[in-house]
Amino acid sequence: MPGFALTHGFLFHLQFGAMKNNNGKVFLVGAGPGDPELLTMKAARVLGEADVVVYDRLVSQDVLALVAPGVSKIFVGKAPGNHHVSQDSINEMLVRLARSGHRVVRLKGGDPFVFGRGGEEALHLVRHGVDFEVVPGITAALACGAYAGIPLTHRGLARQLHFVAGHCRGDAPLDLNWAALADPDATLVFYMALAGLGEVRKRLLDAGLAGDTPAALVESGTTPRQRCFNTSLEQLVRTAREQRITAPAVIIIGRVAALARELAWFAADGEPQPALLESNAGAYAG
Ligand code: SAH
Repeated sequence: MPGFALTHGFLFHLQFGAMKNNNGKVFLVGAGPGDPELLTMKAARVLGEADVVVYDRLVSQDVLALVAPGVSKIFVGKAPGNHHVSQDSINEMLVRLARSGHRVVRLKGGDPFVFGRGGEEALHLVRHGVDFEVVPGITAALACGAYAGIPLTHRGLARQLHFVAGHCRGDAPLDLNWAALADPDATLVFYMALAGLGEVRKRLLDAGLAGDTPAALVESGTTPRQRCFNTSLEQLVRTAREQRITAPAVIIIGRVAALARELAWFAADGEPQPALLESNAGAYAG
């Protein structure tokens, strides 16, 4: 490749020329739940070819480490002490970067089209005539189920699976079809549910789901800090409080959650045993 022999100045000129003639492109890429080996091969390739990476808070440091040195990394997530970049500004930024000829990777935790606002970004791009591709990622529900030893569906235990946002805009109450969710044959995976946990519990109990329905809290799934607690619908809030569960965490509710007792296999850093932790033992008599 002749590029090896070129000076920096000439390379810059070549790139600049390419920028003028070609439109850039945005890749909406799922970074998965944290463990970098859970990236798809396509995500890894696209990341390696990026000119600029625009990423969120949930993208793990291990994944960011795969970005080549010298490639701009722009953090647009919410974080304590960090000025929050609005969704409109992110949309505008993606269009501007692509129009100036860049190969932009818009990197999001999990999957970009599952509670990730990837759809809004894709709509903005398409409406502004910017080329894009979507690279799916392993969403938190699938990753946490796998790493906690909870098959999300299981013959005889669950024949439906719901991914539910346990968080609303502002302080609005959770406007969900609780009667449909309170099904003993379903598995419910709540994202963003820590703040609304009390409401989730109460609404499901009110809708008739049994208090001893197994439940699990999975914190920082797939990372060396993963913690998983077995509990019950009744004891959910107490367990979260006692164990000081912090985001990111998913709540898995349904009979399948009890399978973690036999199937937990993943050992977090420093743990000799799989990271299955019993909380409120006896609260669930299953
Ligand atoms: N697009 C992401 C979800 C973004 S919403 C995806 O597909 O996974 C953010 C929520 O995802 C968090 O509040 C938490 O509920 C969940 N989450 C993301 N990563 C997680 C992880 N490693 N462990 C547990 N929950 C996670």
